[in-house]
Amino acid sequence: MAKHKFSTHHGMVDILPDEVRKWQYLENLIHQEAEKFNFEEIRTPIMEQTELIVRGLGQLTDIVSKEIFSFSRGDDNYVLRPELTAPVVRAFVENHLDQRGGSQKLYYIGPMFRAERPQKGRQRQFHQFGVEVLGSADPVADAEVIAFMVHIYKKLGIANTTLKLNSIGDPESREAYKKALKEYLKPNFEKLSDISQTRFEKNPLRILDSKEEEDQPFIETAPVITDFLSEESKVHYTQVKEYLDDLGISYVEDPYLVRGMDYYTQTAFELISPDLGSQDALAGGGRYDLLVEEIGGKPTPAVGFAAGMERLFIACEELDIKLGSEKSVDIYIVTLGDAARKWGLKQLPAIREKGLSATMDYMGRSMKAQMKDANRENARYTIIVGENELNEGKFTLRNMKESEENQLTMDEILNKLSAWLNVRRSIFYKHPISRSSDRK
Ligand code: AMP
Repeated sequence: MAKHKFSTHHGMVDILPDEVRKWQYLENLIHQEAEKFNFEEIRTPIMEQTELIVRGLGQLTDIVSKEIFSFSRGDDNYVLRPELTAPVVRAFVENHLDQRGGSQKLYYIGPMFRAERPQKGRQRQFHQFGVEVLGSADPVADAEVIAFMVHIYKKLGIANTTLKLNSIGDPESREAYKKALKEYLKPNFEKLSDISQTRFEKNPLRILDSKEEEDQPFIETAPVITDFLSEESKVHYTQVKEYLDDLGISYVEDPYLVRGMDYYTQTAFELISPDLGSQDALAGGGRYDLLVEEIGGKPTPAVGFAAGMERLFIACEELDIKLGSEKSVDIYIVTLGDAARKWGLKQLPAIREKGLSATMDYMGRSMKAQMKDANRENARYTIIVGENELNEGKFTLRNMKESEENQLTMDEILNKLSAWLNVRRSIFYKHPISRSSDRK
């Protein structure tokens, strides 16, 4: 009987060693740039209580009504986190982070789970990085959060993006707008798509987000929320735009931009890329001034964004931007005979201590097979050692790229390799990202 073949869950993928290097590259960049903005990393559990996500995001949102992975254990109900804003707010309240003083400038990187229909740029387990700034109502915080988001893509060379900006106002502005929107849509209710009809009563703003063709003519001429903003919301929105202008960050105002979660207030934004096809949102975010209180904390204004990492990589591929270096090892020790093998194993720690990567054969292969393996591993140098070399105390250091060999003592080899490492480091920091055309 054939053995059962196991596989990943639909819409979830393994990130294999050849792929992982670009992930590490991006993660390192995020850590490094977040530090420059003085954002601190936060890590929260993969599971959260169902009630937190339902209350945080809203019962009627697509995520809560259709896409959460939920399960129970005893009387407790949990979900795999579909996003991190509500969990970060929970952590902020539970751990009294407000007592640290000032505004909390947090960032995160990690996997999220949504039971969506998988397609290019849409998975069931996907990864986001994001920022949450809690404790500031100042539009400077909105501008800084947006600036960080835009900065990461710019750093990577993903230049062809559009920042869409809107204000969805405070609850009063939104209520006035919802009323006007419903009045406008009502005469054509029967012509709206089924999904929009179900949203009409309870969540009419989401109709603006509809991709259904029959809804488009009504969306195009719908009233705009910016005409319904309260004085305070207007001032906030104007200041956000002014600060973005000051920072030289361009944006396109989109009065129909609404976001998928109910917790948003005031500023809403999305970064889109024409290189992504139908799933064109790279990142999105906004203000959520009422969420901390909703989750049981003191009134605390806040703003943040979340960015999809898989989609960032798709954009890189489209633009021929290659992140991270190719697989390679600095030193491969090629040995002939047992004594040489023993000697080789003992050299590895000293080489690694110098900051170099080093490996050797684990499979008892012939010298020829080891040289072949060193090539496959993309070794920069091999140290070749047999009985004669051991007796003479001089070993063959072979530069694999130049096909050049020298007979040297181990001390001489270590000095030479250290010098080479210093040169390589200085080059790497000047050119960390490459396009595949540079590599030919
Ligand atoms: P959201 O949390 O829905 O605002 O999403 C923020 C960003 O996460 C989006 O702009 C996408 O880049 C990414 N994203 C959201 N859902 C998925 C998914 N199912 N698969 C891949 N990326 C996603």
